[in-house]
Amino acid sequence: MTDNNCIFCKIAAGEIPSATLFEDEKFRVILDVGPAAKGHMLILPKDHYADICEMPEDLVGEAFKLAKKMAEKQQRVLGCDGINVLQNNHEAAGQTVFHFHIHLIPRFKKDKINIGWKPGELSEADRDELLTSFQES
Ligand code: AMP
Ligand code: ZN
Repeated sequence: MTDNNCIFCKIAAGEIPSATLFEDEKFRVILDVGPAAKGHMLILPKDHYADICEMPEDLVGEAFKLAKKMAEKQQRVLGCDGINVLQNNHEAAGQTVFHFHIHLIPRFKKDKINIGWKPGELSEADRDELLTSFQES
């Protein structure tokens, strides 16, 4: 279940070298080559799934279980004050490599990393519409 045109398939399979921090039969964890911070890592499944919706539920669960394990290790090894766990799906959400991956970004109290948005306001109309449409689907 790999895609010949996918760079993360090749990295996950070991066909392209990577700075690998962990590997088992289903996943490879690598250092991001364009890190937001020192120790920024990516969790890659070895099989190709473009995004979270394409991926089997069990494997998504295993990926996040591994993210927890690696996040704990980041805290131990790097002594970071926090960690962002990010997972982008589709171009509109900032995905640039279309092979599912989880980012683990170590954070320090005074770092200059900006992962944010300006909070809007949950209107009563939106809340009611969303409660109805999500319950119905
Ligand atoms: P996203 O924008 O969520 O799709 O994230 C893609 C991430 O993959 C970016 O943070 C890139 O820096 C990283 N990346 C792209 N190519 C490589 C590569 N060959 N090895 C390691 N990380 C990569
Ligand atoms: Zn792939």
